[in-house]
Amino acid sequence: MSKNKKSKRKRLGSHRIWITLLFCLIVTIIANIFIVFFASSFASYMMNTKIVDQYEAASYMAKLYENSDDEEGAVELLKEDDKTFFIMDKHGNILYQNGENTMGTTSGKMEISVFNNGFFTKEETIRVYVDKVTEGFLEPNEDGEISIDFGKILAFAQNVPKDSNIKVDIKRTSVEMPIWLAIEVKNGTQIFYSKAAFTVSLSDITFIATFALAGAALVFCVLILMLANMISTLISQRKMRKIFYHDHVTRGHNWMWFMKETEAILKKRKTRQIRFAVIDIVFVKYRNYCSCHSIADGEQMLIKIDKILKQNMRFNEVTAHYGSANFCAMLVCKDDAELKQRIEFIMDQLQKIDNEHRISYHVGVYAIEPIKDKNGKFIKKNEEDIDIEEYYNNACTARSTIIEDDTEIAFFDENLLKEQKWIDTVMDNFDKAIENEEFVVYYQPKFNPKNDELSGVEALIRWDSPEFGFKAPGSFIPILEQNGAIPEIDHYMITHVARDQKKWLDEGYHCVPASVNVSRAHFIENDLAMQIKEAVDKEGCPYHLIEIELTESAFFDDKNAMLDTIKKLKEIGFMVSMDDFGSGYSSLNSLKDMPLDVLKLDAGFFSGSEDDERGEIVVSEALRLARNLKMITVAEGVEHREQVDFLAKHGCDMIQGYIYAKPMPGDEYVHVMKKTEASLEETADSETNEAAGEASQKETLNGEVISSEASEEIINEDTQNQSAE
Ligand code: C2E
Ligand code: CA
Ligand code: CA
Repeated sequence: MSKNKKSKRKRLGSHRIWITLLFCLIVTIIANIFIVFFASSFASYMMNTKIVDQYEAASYMAKLYENSDDEEGAVELLKEDDKTFFIMDKHGNILYQNGENTMGTTSGKMEISVFNNGFFTKEETIRVYVDKVTEGFLEPNEDGEISIDFGKILAFAQNVPKDSNIKVDIKRTSVEMPIWLAIEVKNGTQIFYSKAAFTVSLSDITFIATFALAGAALVFCVLILMLANMISTLISQRKMRKIFYHDHVTRGHNWMWFMKETEAILKKRKTRQIRFAVIDIVFVKYRNYCSCHSIADGEQMLIKIDKILKQNMRFNEVTAHYGSANFCAMLVCKDDAELKQRIEFIMDQLQKIDNEHRISYHVGVYAIEPIKDKNGKFIKKNEEDIDIEEYYNNACTARSTIIEDDTEIAFFDENLLKEQKWIDTVMDNFDKAIENEEFVVYYQPKFNPKNDELSGVEALIRWDSPEFGFKAPGSFIPILEQNGAIPEIDHYMITHVARDQKKWLDEGYHCVPASVNVSRAHFIENDLAMQIKEAVDKEGCPYHLIEIELTESAFFDDKNAMLDTIKKLKEIGFMVSMDDFGSGYSSLNSLKDMPLDVLKLDAGFFSGSEDDERGEIVVSEALRLARNLKMITVAEGVEHREQVDFLAKHGCDMIQGYIYAKPMPGDEYVHVMKKTEASLEETADSETNEAAGEASQKETLNGEVISSEASEEIINEDTQNQSAE
C-alpha cells in the first residue's frame, strides 16, 4: 500500500464534533464580550452624566462661597440649601461644616479622579471622595476611573440595612448613594467638600440587568441549540459507526473497525519495542460446509469462530471478521515460537467448535518487527509507517502458501512478497508483452538415438522482456495458468510455430514435426481442436508439422472431453503426445483410452544415479509398452551418452536432451536443419542400395510433406519395425 494511503483514516466524523464545539465556544465568548461591553458602556455613561450634574451643583456652591467677602454669611446661606458640606483648610482643619462628615473610612481620605469622558467642555479632573456607604458600589480601577457595581446596588437596594445612610425610595424606584466631591477654593488654600446625592434609578439598573439577562438567555439558547445539534450529530454518528463497524454476519466487528483499532493501538505504543503480529485465519472449505449443511449453519459457524477469537484476545489485541470465511486478528507476541504456541492453542479451540465434522483452519502470520536505529535503539513510534492493510495482506500472502487442507500456520517472509509482486508484474504486463511480441519461440531438437538424426523439435516459450530481462517459462507459465491467461499463450505459440514451420518449408528446409505445449487449463475448451486448426490454417502450415503436447496431469481432468479433443485433433491431422509420462501418478489408464501418437518419458527417469537398475527396468518396460500401443517414444532430459545408448538399445525413437542440444532460437535451429539435410544427402549418396526402404521411414519421422493418414500409417510401421529390432 502506498504511503499516501497510510494513516489517513480519521475517526468517523469526530472532526465535525470538534468544529461544532469550537464554534460554540467562539459564539459564547463573542456574545459575552458584547454584553459586558454594552452593559459597562451604558453604566459608565450613566455614572458620568450623574456625576457631572452633581459636580455642577457643587461647583456653584463653591463659587458662591469663594466669591463672597463674608465667608460665614455665605456658609449660612449655603446651609439654607440643606446640603451637607464642609470646608477644610490646607492643614486639614474643618473651617465650616453642615451635616455629618461621613467622608472617608479611617484616617486617610479616599481620593479618586473621574476623568472627563467627553461630558466636560474642558479637560478637568473631578476629585471624588467615596462615602463609607458608597464603598463597594463605586469601584475605582487602576486608572482611577469609577465603575458602578450594579449587581451589588441591586442586591443592596432590595435588602437595605435599617441603620444605613442609604435611602431607598421605592416609589421613586431609585437608590441614593452619597459621594463627596472636592473643589479647591481660595487659590487652593481651602477645599470645599460637598456631599452629592448620587442617585441610581432602579429602572436603569433593571434595564441593564434585563439586558444582561436577555443577552445571557440568548447565548444560553444558542448554546442549547448547538448542544442539541451536537448531541443529535453524535447520536447519528454513533448509529453510523455501528453500521460502519458492525459485521452483519458475526454481529461483531468488521474489517473497518479492525483497521481503526489496530492503527490506534500501534500509534499509542510509546516505542516500537512491542512486537505485534497481524494474522489471517481462514475456515478451510467453508463453501463445502455451507453446501453440506446450509448457509445459515455456515454463518453460525462464523459467529462461533468470532466469539472464540474474541475470548482469546488479551490487552491491546483485537479481532474482527474480514469477510467470507476470513478473520483477522492482531496479537502481541514476544517471538515466533510463543506466537505459534498461542495460535495453536486458539486453533485447538476453533477445531472443537463442531465435533461431528473435521474442520480445519489456515493461518497466515505477519510479524510487525520492532524497528531499531543504527545504534540498536528502538525507534520511537512513527505514525507514517503504519499500514494495517499491508500487514494483513502479507499475512494473507503467507496463508495462501498453505496447500494441504489440514490446519496449518504459515509465517510471512520477504520472498513471498517478491513472488506476489512478480505475479502482479506478469499479469499487468502480459497483454503488452503479447502485443509487442515479447514472447519468443525457442526450439529444442529431438534426435534419433540410432543415427543421431534430427527427428522432431519441441517449441518452448521464453519471455524476452525489455523491462524484466530474459525469463524462462517456469517463471511465468504457472502464473498465466493460474490466472486464466494460458489460452492466449497457447494460441500465440501455435501461431508462431506454424508461421515458422511454413516459412522454413517454403525455404526448402528439411522440416520435422514441431511439438507445441498446450496447457491442461486450455484443454477443457470444447472447440480447442478447431481453434488450433484455424490458427494453423491461417499460417498455411501443413497439419503433420504440428504436434500437440499434453502434460500427463491433464489426463486426470474430464476424460471424455479430453478424448473428444484428441480425436478431433487427430482427425484434422495433428499428432498428439502425452508429455511428462511418469512424472505424476501413473496414467496407464489414459494410455489405454486415449489414441495418442507420442509418449514422452519424463526427464525424472534420467536424472537419478547412473547405476539405477530398477529405473532401467521401468524405462525399458515403458518403451516396450508404448511400442506395443504403436506410439512413438521420446525420452526427455537426457544428458549422458550411456543413456542415449541404453535408449537406442531399447527402441526409443527420439531423444530430447542437453546431450544433443539445448533449446535455441529459431535462427540457430535453422542451422540444425541445414546440417541434417547435408548429412541426409551424404547418406543418400553413399548408401544408394539400402536408401529406398530406409529413406521412406526417415521421411515420415522427419515430416516430409505427406498426407496425415499416410503419416500415421508409416509411423506405425516404423514403430513396429523398431519393436521387431
Ligand atoms: P516441458 O514441456 O517438459 O519442457 C521440457 C523442459 O525440459 C524444457 O524446459 C527444456 O529446456 C528442459 N530440458 C530439455 N532437455 C533437458 C536436459 O537435458 N536437461 C535439463 N536439465 N533440462 C532439459 P523449459 O523450456 O524451461 O520449459 C519448462 C516447462 O515450461 C515446459 O516443460 C512446459 O511445461 C512449460 N512450457 C514451455 N513452453 C511452453 C509453452 O509454449 N506453452 C505452455 N503451455 N507451456 C510451456
Ligand atoms: Ca513439453
Ligand atoms: Ca516434458
